[in-house]
Amino acid sequence: MLSRSRQSLKAARALTASRVAVALPAIGTRSARIASTSTPAPAARLFSSSAIRRDQEESTRPEIDTPPSLYTFTEEEEMLRESVRKFAQEVVGPRVYAMDEAEEMDKLMGIETAAEHEGSEMSFMAAIIAVEELAKVDPSISVMCDVHNTLVNSTLRLYGNDDVKARFLPRLATNTLGSFCLSEPASGSDAFALQTTAKLDERVERHADHNLVAPRWITNSAEAGIFLVFANVDPSKGYKGITCFALDKEMGVTIAKKEKKLGIKASSTCLLSFDDVKVPKENVVGEVGKGYKIAIDILNEGRIGIAAQMIGLAQGAFDKSVSYAYQRKQFGKAVGDNQGMAFQFADVLTEIEAARLLTYNAARLKEQGKPFVREAAMAKYYASNVAQRASGMAIEWAGGVGFTREVGLEKYWRDSKIGAIYEGTSNIQLETIAKLLKKDYV
Ligand SMILES: Cc1cc2nc3c(=O)[nH]c(=O)nc-3n(C[C@H](O)[C@H](O)[C@H](O)COP(=O)(O)OP(=O)(O)OC[C@H]3O[C@@H](n4cnc5c(N)ncnc54)[C@H](O)[C@@H]3O)c2cc1C
Repeated sequence: MLSRSRQSLKAARALTASRVAVALPAIGTRSARIASTSTPAPAARLFSSSAIRRDQEESTRPEIDTPPSLYTFTEEEEMLRESVRKFAQEVVGPRVYAMDEAEEMDKLMGIETAAEHEGSEMSFMAAIIAVEELAKVDPSISVMCDVHNTLVNSTLRLYGNDDVKARFLPRLATNTLGSFCLSEPASGSDAFALQTTAKLDERVERHADHNLVAPRWITNSAEAGIFLVFANVDPSKGYKGITCFALDKEMGVTIAKKEKKLGIKASSTCLLSFDDVKVPKENVVGEVGKGYKIAIDILNEGRIGIAAQMIGLAQGAFDKSVSYAYQRKQFGKAVGDNQGMAFQFADVLTEIEAARLLTYNAARLKEQGKPFVREAAMAKYYASNVAQRASGMAIEWAGGVGFTREVGLEKYWRDSKIGAIYEGTSNIQLETIAKLLKKDYV
């Protein structure tokens, strides 16, 4: 199924290369200039990233005709991984601390959007691969790409009518960043208790009591030009009044407060304010009163993206620290050559691999239209635990230098904590898994 003739393979490569160029435009030029002039600190040079090369491992058994493993990718997906990996290491890498310090980042664009809307028209797995590869280098860039693609673009692609798609998707695929605005001060895990209301008339008027009932902690919002906002058009119907709207920033969306955070500091997280916002009826996404269904469905698949962010983060920290441990000498040998260290590497890498397989499995189930909600919750829950453990161990394996800011390991650890919080906390993932598993027994 995955084999192609030489010609079509060549064509696929050319196509993928051009699509990736479309998908990753804005950050390129400016950052590339910075990349070419920046010199790494002396200790940082020891921390070269080393990806695992499964393809070089020897096969000991003849191939048999069997369903493909979870490490089977289409040519397009392989090409995308290589391109994003190169882009992340060469362009994003040198900018990571500068963006973390400045608490802002450069922009990055779309992946699954149809070609007719100027997108790359690639698979969901391709988006997952991009998020994973970016997180190996910078989890902030990764979540920006993740929210923009798996929440914002996906909502519009899957639920928007032709007019909405034509007006918003091309901009999101080329020059405008998107935000997904569901959480409010009083509604986090209980997302459908949101208090923001909208009056559905000729024009939709949002009545928000300033900062009290506006969306808060919204990723990408400082840079975004398009906001998908959930508001209740008929609170008497409870969650069945929740409706999704596409807003342009110019309609009156302002940033009331930018949060200071523990990690993913370059990714903006803001409280919004809607003062006298008027939105045309044509900007409703999907059906009126079906916003809750859109949010559930999109977040169910979106959390596979967060799992991908977490496995990328874990692998990035692991690669940096382990390559250092095989260079750092104490007692006349590399510290990594002590069995006490090597066994820890093996243990953590096993966990990262398990998290990756959960994540890829959930992604493939979703692509195949099979039930995936339990698997997606497991992937996010497990991957976020693994990311915290792997990045914490990576600091210990490097010793004192791991604790300093010189080599970037402490940043992975700070960034890992958010995986257990956004797009459903770990408890909410456990609740989902528990609810679904009970059906098998009761
Ligand atoms: C950096 C960052 C970026 C974010 N980006 C976005 C975004 O782009 N868009 C958006 O809409 N939101 C965003 N959020 C909000 C995020 O989704 C919420 O923070 C998250 O859903 C948890 O809600 P909460 O913070 O209100 O915690 P709460 O719901 O108050 O939970 C507090 C604690 O109670 C536990 N708890 C709650 N309910 C239960 C239960 N039923 N059973 C067991 N335990 C429970 C939780 O697990 C948690 O440990 C972001 C948040 C952060 C920090």
